[in-house]
Amino acid sequence: MEQGSTIAAISTPPGQGAIAVIRLSGEKALEICDKIFRPADNGPLLANRPANTIHFGRIYEKKALIDEVLVSIFRTPHSYTGEDVAEISCHGSVYIQHKILKLLLDNGAVLARPGEFTQRAFLNGKMDLTQAEAVADIVASESAAFHRVAIQQMRGGFSEEIKKLRGRLLDFISLVELELDFSEEDVQFADRSELKSLLDAISRMLEALTGSFAFGNALKKGIPVVIAGKPNVGKSTLLNALLKDERALVSEIPGTTRDSIEDVIHIDGISFRFTDTAGLRETSDAVEVMGIKRTMEKIRQAKIILLMVEATDTAGHINHLIEGLLVRPEIAEKSIILLLNKTDLLPGDRRLFEKRDFPPLRGKDHMIRISAKTNTGLDKLGSLLISMVTRESPGEGDVVITNLRHYEALRNAHEAVIRASRGLENQLPGDLLAMDIREVLHYLGEITGEITTDEILGNIFKNFCIGK
Ligand code: GDP
Repeated sequence: MEQGSTIAAISTPPGQGAIAVIRLSGEKALEICDKIFRPADNGPLLANRPANTIHFGRIYEKKALIDEVLVSIFRTPHSYTGEDVAEISCHGSVYIQHKILKLLLDNGAVLARPGEFTQRAFLNGKMDLTQAEAVADIVASESAAFHRVAIQQMRGGFSEEIKKLRGRLLDFISLVELELDFSEEDVQFADRSELKSLLDAISRMLEALTGSFAFGNALKKGIPVVIAGKPNVGKSTLLNALLKDERALVSEIPGTTRDSIEDVIHIDGISFRFTDTAGLRETSDAVEVMGIKRTMEKIRQAKIILLMVEATDTAGHINHLIEGLLVRPEIAEKSIILLLNKTDLLPGDRRLFEKRDFPPLRGKDHMIRISAKTNTGLDKLGSLLISMVTRESPGEGDVVITNLRHYEALRNAHEAVIRASRGLENQLPGDLLAMDIREVLHYLGEITGEITTDEILGNIFKNFCIGK
């Protein structure tokens, strides 16, 4: 990164909007702005005005008026990046946005790289690495549940706790390493039982954090749900019914298509990714259908399996289907919801099926009677899905890991902690113990950014949008 340069970028989404924001950060942010901005009050230059103020005025290219704008100014270190920052709010015409950006570049600013504002904030100590990453997650959050997790992480989340424990471990390693200097005298400065309980505490924390990843990742990407069942039982009708409210909401966002085989449906702020086992409709025997590799692959990836049958079918036949599914080892740790569809077609005198009519179902499986066509029982299905997901979710305040980079570093740290603990139990010599602890420190430091490499930073920030 070119330290000392002043960067500029359009921070609002590409295209036309009511207003747009162009952001400048760096030593010359205000000076560059002054070259193209004339304040309406004819007062002093922006560079001579106080921080955290907003100014109305006009942007000119030579004598030509480009736009009337508002400029917000912030000064180092009290700004998003920690540098001097100016934010120009202009009218959202694409022409105006590009014109102003070009004027700034012509006057000494350089175009910001993706994520460079946030990267500068990190490098200037405004936030740690997990918080910087959470900024990207917040911008991308589409569901209430994921948004909650991202906000928590941006506010410090688990990195405070990691920094604290890492700090204590650092104290210990200096003691262990000091012992090495006195190796002839056989002294112990570092209390081994205290060190052991610290390692245990770190291990417990790492275990809880890595354990939350499966849930966090599903939350981020949407909980995968697969709908299996014979052709014509009503799978697409159900999907369409669930999607009905959603469509009105989603179809206005350009680029979203609804005709994919996967549909994202939001229920109570949690995203579910529904996959229909389409493409296998020609086969008439569902047991055989489910035996097909692709269906099984989808079932393997799913967290919840909806097995749809017709309520008018016989219990014997339905049980046969359930057994066909349950013989697969992939199903062992997943829950099945048996959906008895088309209940509207049941004759009035027919006894309604209960869960106990299907003995192959296990305790964790469920059964619901619905009619996809008349929208009956869909609320119940929604609440059941939510309760199945939240049951395994950590409590409100608990931290959930959603980021693969964190997960890998946490897992590596956990392995190193286990090695160090074992070494301690086996009274490993100080130099070997120190090596294991150094490794724990390294991985913990990687998460919060206390230890970084250009490669790590490059990987993280390249996924940001320009202007963030
Ligand atoms: P899929 O092959 O499993 O996706 O089945 P479809 O959703 O295409 O439905 C097959 C047929 O069943 C269509 O004619 C639907 O209108 C009908 N259908 C679906 N759900 C219901 C329902 O709950 N009640 C009734 N009466 N018909 C339904």
